[in-house]
Amino acid sequence: MEPRHCLVTGANRGLGLEFTRQLLAGGARVVATARHPGRATALNALAGEHPGRLHVLPLDVAVARSRDELLRELPLVLGQRRLDLLLNNAGVLHGGERFGQVAEADLETSVRTNAIGPFLLVQALAGLLADGGIVANLSSEIGSIALRREFRTPSYAIGKAAQNMATVMLSQALQPRGIRVVALHPGWVRTDMGGERAPVLPAEAVAALLQVLERLGPTDSGLFLGPDGAVLPW
Ligand code: NDP
Repeated sequence: MEPRHCLVTGANRGLGLEFTRQLLAGGARVVATARHPGRATALNALAGEHPGRLHVLPLDVAVARSRDELLRELPLVLGQRRLDLLLNNAGVLHGGERFGQVAEADLETSVRTNAIGPFLLVQALAGLLADGGIVANLSSEIGSIALRREFRTPSYAIGKAAQNMATVMLSQALQPRGIRVVALHPGWVRTDMGGERAPVLPAEAVAALLQVLERLGPTDSGLFLGPDGAVLPW
């Protein structure tokens, strides 16, 4: 069987790096993007371990020129093949925000990186997605309007809430081609973003989320799913 072709954004560290590792271990071919591939030491080491199956390309998802460059380079890597899985994993969280001092620049960066960038990336790469494939957007319970009961990390919360709507819009736009678009909450995971107190290891979170994607049915699009596959409220 032809191996699956996957693209993972923000693969320099954290969950993106772990997604790349586990997808490769499962036999997939992976295009992993990083803002600075030359400095992506762990990712480049993985590329050495999997010759020909991992391509590292530059992408700053928040920058139009960078997305355009990826759109130019990706067909050279894929050839006639199409992406079975696009994982919008890159994300940013500004910690320590206090009401009264929330900075416009942080709100802008968060919405641009967590929502606008992933939406425009999917729009730009739509022609390179396989019919019946999957787009998975790394979201967070923090972006759930229904679940929010406290004032915390507002830039991130607003960015992920906007991303959640982007997921629903994209699921509608790509529905005629059978492409399923879902939002995923990974749990609280021990990465630079999640911090040292987070109870879940990246390897566990990624294994759980890949299972969730594996089990997606043909009509399971436009859903917000937790690491156990449970549907979360928007
Ligand atoms: P990390 O902060 O550990 O890693 C974030 C990754 O995103 C890095 O590779 C970073 O690149 C990349 N990134 C940031 N901004 C951009 C950008 N503008 N363009 C391209 N790449 C960018 O985060 P996690 O691995 O923990 O998080 C991965 C995803 O999971 C995020 O979307 C996050 O919101 C989500 N998530 C994480 C949770 C957790 O508990 N960890 C909980 C809920 C959701 P670089 O290395 O160059 O800085």
